[in-house]
Amino acid sequence: MMKVLLVEDEPNVAGLINKGLTEQGYSITVAPDGSLGLELALNNSFDVIILDIMLPNMSGMELCRQLRQKKILTPILFLTALGTTENIVAGLNAGGDDYLLKPFKFAELEARLRSLYRRNQQLPKEDTVLRAGNLSIDLDAKLIYYAGEPVSLTSTEFRLLEFFIKNKNRVLSRIELLENVWGIDFNLGTNVVDVYVNYLRKKVDKDPEQKIIHTVIGMGYMLKI
Ligand code: CA
Repeated sequence: MMKVLLVEDEPNVAGLINKGLTEQGYSITVAPDGSLGLELALNNSFDVIILDIMLPNMSGMELCRQLRQKKILTPILFLTALGTTENIVAGLNAGGDDYLLKPFKFAELEARLRSLYRRNQQLPKEDTVLRAGNLSIDLDAKLIYYAGEPVSLTSTEFRLLEFFIKNKNRVLSRIELLENVWGIDFNLGTNVVDVYVNYLRKKVDKDPEQKIIHTVIGMGYMLKI
């Protein structure tokens, strides 16, 4: 089921789109203003975002810019009544993927959504930006985001998290973690691993509903994505 976030302040337009897409079997979340839209987009994962440009609190363009800055690359379809080339170009420059002029036919909206969805599914997955629940890790830029907010990790915490990510869904023993993150010659007890796993959990694994770092009793730890 395609999950769509609709950020639209005009109740009539929002209602029509919501009704039409729900009838077609989509799952729709509606936000009536820009800041709520941003919050929802940062804390949930959607397949496509439909974004009106003129919104209370924060414009659609600003919302789009902030999402892209935070490496959230969900396809964005702008809805705009302002049909000038200038506005369309500004929307696409802000990181939007497509646009539709109001008023539009519902069938066209749906066709655009399907096309954005397909295009996104076919893109080669960017392997330098990894996501796990609320967490995203840019391995190139060495940046971590939790629920869209940058998190500062010490270099040991970063190496530990990176090693977890590169070995996701595999049980890692404390010895293996110690050797790979601290170095084989580093003469520390394995409880340093437990201490650092707890640091990481406090910074990047705070949501009990979407836990990613699991303790495997008698064996070690596993990062599950
Ligand atoms: Ca509007």
